[in-house]
Amino acid sequence: MDKNLVRFIAGAICPSCKEKDKIALSADDQEIYCISCGFKETKPQDPPRNNNN
Ligand SMILES: [Zn+2]
Repeated sequence: MDKNLVRFIAGAICPSCKEKDKIALSADDQEIYCISCGFKETKPQDPPRNNNN
């Protein structure tokens, strides 16, 4: 078993360093992080109700 399993998000661009395909999901799916610059962000839990775009 691979405990260090991480899943990369295809095509995701890091908002910090702008590198592509460096964003990975943490094992528990609660965080995303950039393996290039160390940027880290908690995944948004609830999607916005208003689609005002
Ligand atoms: Zn980055």
